[in-house]
Amino acid sequence: MIANNSESFEVEVLTAHSNAKLLIAQAMKFGPNAVVIGDDAHYHEVFEALDPMGIKVYAGAKALNSIVEMDGIEMVLTAMVGYAGLQPTINAIHAGKQIALANKETLVIAGDLITKTAKEKGVNIYPVDSEHSAIFQCLVGDFHNKIEKIILTASGGPFRGKKRNELADVTVAEALKHPNWNMGAKITIDSATMMNKGLEVIEAKWLFGLEHKQIEVVVHPQSIIHSMVQFEDGSIKAQMGLPDMRLPIQFALSYPERLKNDFTRFHFMDYPSLTFEQPDLLTFRNLSLAYAALGSGGNMPCILNAANEIAVEAFLQSRIGFLDMPEVIESCMGAIGHVSNPTLDDYVETDKETRIKAKEIIDSWKVH
Ligand code: MG
Repeated sequence: MIANNSESFEVEVLTAHSNAKLLIAQAMKFGPNAVVIGDDAHYHEVFEALDPMGIKVYAGAKALNSIVEMDGIEMVLTAMVGYAGLQPTINAIHAGKQIALANKETLVIAGDLITKTAKEKGVNIYPVDSEHSAIFQCLVGDFHNKIEKIILTASGGPFRGKKRNELADVTVAEALKHPNWNMGAKITIDSATMMNKGLEVIEAKWLFGLEHKQIEVVVHPQSIIHSMVQFEDGSIKAQMGLPDMRLPIQFALSYPERLKNDFTRFHFMDYPSLTFEQPDLLTFRNLSLAYAALGSGGNMPCILNAANEIAVEAFLQSRIGFLDMPEVIESCMGAIGHVSNPTLDDYVETDKETRIKAKEIIDSWKVH
């Protein structure tokens, strides 16, 4: 997208966690001032490739936290996975950079703090998550009108229609087969458990200033309607298209403009029926847990998120089963102390405590 609109965009900094090859290739293409490789182990490889081109090369989480404050940056696209995205996003907001947010966990963990700080600094947060981008696109032209409710669509993931007893023994490979979207491992597992939708409910609360009763989830297996807004006159606006993450990314960077592109177009006759179902909260308990966390507020969504990150990691290593994930999360939500008005330090502490607790729970199961 940036390659096709080089007169509108200039890449200042590129970062990657451990994919040095892709970072080097992209840096050669876009010629940023600097790059950061999160994992120090790849520093030399990246340095040797890019230093001769006059591109500064940094490594590690600290470099990531400070690079987002660099002069010359107007907007930061945060696309790290999980809790790791929190600190760099906060730093970027403090430095007054506009945010294109793909890291939903940041708002799940500390939505109140992030949105308050962004407001103080005059920073806009543009959603990259496809559902939230859809809602944002529906709101264009209607920002002054009250939202009655939003309807987040969910594909239902690879296990849609399955009951609990059919899910006890599913394998990691089965859970990683998402029907419509091709994504990283963590978010793909979150989609299979519907935690992804739960995190998105919390993300939507903060992005659009809603009460949790105003956020509804509908399963829509074709993933053509990316989400909807219902206004106070009952009118519903939906944003549609083929599932392609490039569009929400492009809109976050180009808003209020829409840039011409050659992405594949949607044809109604290829999808003569668009269908809708109620989410199965008994089978996909993570979605109920997310609503419960949102209801209790404070640090509870932070507990939910940290426990989920540990549970997903353990599932990916085949150390726990698919149905064990909500058990880990629910136990942590009951065990970690509730803080009603957390500071950043409280969130850091809650995250740390919850991870320890979640690991203890998982280890205790292995003994029995
Ligand atoms: Mg999404």
